[in-house]
Amino acid sequence: MATINVAGPNVQFTETEINSQYVYQNSEVTRNADGSITVTPTEQKLRFKTGRKPAKTGVMLVGWGGNNGSTLTAGILANKHKYSWRTRRGVQEANYFGSITQASTLRIGQTKSLEEVNVPLSSVVPMVHPNDLVLGGWDCSGLALGDAMRRAQVLEVTLQDLVYEEMQTLKPLPAIFDLAFVAENQEGRADNVIPGDKKAAVAKVREDIRNFKAANGLDTVVVLWTANTERFCLVTEGVHDTADNILKAVENSEEELSPSSCYAVAAILEGCSYINGAPQNTNVPGIVELARRHKVFVGGDDFKSGQTKMKSALVEFFVGAGIKPECIASYNHLGNNDGKNLNAPKQFRSKEITKSNVVDDMVASNDILFPAGTPKPDHCIVIKYLPYVGDSKRALDEYTFSIFLGGEQTVVMHNTCQDSLLATPLILDLVILTELMQRVSIAENDGEFQQMDTVLSILSYLLKAPMVPAGTPVVNALNRQKQAIENILRALVGLPAENNMLLEYRIP
Ligand code: NAD
Repeated sequence: MATINVAGPNVQFTETEINSQYVYQNSEVTRNADGSITVTPTEQKLRFKTGRKPAKTGVMLVGWGGNNGSTLTAGILANKHKYSWRTRRGVQEANYFGSITQASTLRIGQTKSLEEVNVPLSSVVPMVHPNDLVLGGWDCSGLALGDAMRRAQVLEVTLQDLVYEEMQTLKPLPAIFDLAFVAENQEGRADNVIPGDKKAAVAKVREDIRNFKAANGLDTVVVLWTANTERFCLVTEGVHDTADNILKAVENSEEELSPSSCYAVAAILEGCSYINGAPQNTNVPGIVELARRHKVFVGGDDFKSGQTKMKSALVEFFVGAGIKPECIASYNHLGNNDGKNLNAPKQFRSKEITKSNVVDDMVASNDILFPAGTPKPDHCIVIKYLPYVGDSKRALDEYTFSIFLGGEQTVVMHNTCQDSLLATPLILDLVILTELMQRVSIAENDGEFQQMDTVLSILSYLLKAPMVPAGTPVVNALNRQKQAIENILRALVGLPAENNMLLEYRIP
């Protein structure tokens, strides 16, 4: 994809870098003793530096042989080979629908004759193309990827047949596995596990990353968890709280160190960013500190694919419209292996936690609807395992709102679709944006360039319970999250943030 050219004094393109100067306009607010507030506009001069050449990027998936992992692999092959396949409805061509970097656009401006011009998100600055990603990874089930794809029952059979043989050549590496963290019903699946203790397993995974990088001539590897949801680990002082204690916990093969945290440690020590696509608390404070020490990114938690994405858009919209959400009932049933694992109470609890907090910032943003001390909306999440529906997840949501003068509005939504076809494009975006941010550095005034914060909160749009740097606000509102991505991309090429004032149309 060709990138756009930006003219003007705020950006310089060299052969290897894009250098932009950006005035970050913001406001500082003071709450006064009498209850009033004072708002002071602020300006900060920033410089961005973006490497122009995307790195040759590898992705190592934890849970490669699962529904998401196998669907991602098949999807990339289908696109790379430009496959098309017959379906009941006609011929289907490969695409990347559902990925914001590959299938969404942003308004870049208007022509002199006031025609609005939209460009692909991936054309603002150079990004890795998904077809160029090299895939690898681990799975506690040793099935080769072709058979794993068949087991997943996600894709049309005609597409499966096109990619099967190539996928059979791909085999997941043995996993760090501990049945104390996933549901007991997963035991039968675990036939491909690294023997020995956690210390040995972390060393083996580190070696796997090094081998994968060397064998494929990669510049960088992103490690991403798309394995089963674990229960929360019991965060303990002396084990999970600092980088040194985490390293000590690995050394001691500590029982309460989750497999996901072990992969995170291995990734960080090999200089790889680590993204958590499931709800569990992998990225404990010690992991974040370790990542900061090694100057890599961590991101998470839990892909935001269906119900929660709709919720974070809908509630933002209703609260913004001055309508008060009172009660949200969210019910799901699904029949894939993710659903089977979530059938166990502790693993369900992890999912319930990430799904529960998604309206908090929107509720907190409106003290007309929610004056201090009043209760938040009732909010309940139910997930049931019904094997027959397989990957075709059903999500039913009922929202009840208070409207004008005590009236009531109830909105009901029924969403049916293959879960993995929603989640897989998010994996691409997570990796592509992480690789991009590895090439970006930022400086204040004449200060030194540095990387963005270790906790990569720009990924929030893609994640149900976004991790943010300690002490900074969590934004769940979907539009705000998308705007953050778009406006940061614009800043990288010296363009002002989109303000939608459209004064050029309004001034007579
Ligand atoms: P899946 O069960 O099909 O795949 C998970 C894979 O992980 C399995 O192949 C399993 O063998 C493997 N695994 C389990 N523990 C492992 C370990 N310790 N190391 C390596 N491999 C291990 O599930 P899925 O549908 O692909 O979903 C993957 C994850 O993504 C789940 O945690 C799910 O909750 C999360 N998620 C999925 C969606 C979605 O829409 N599909 C949305 C949000 C989050």
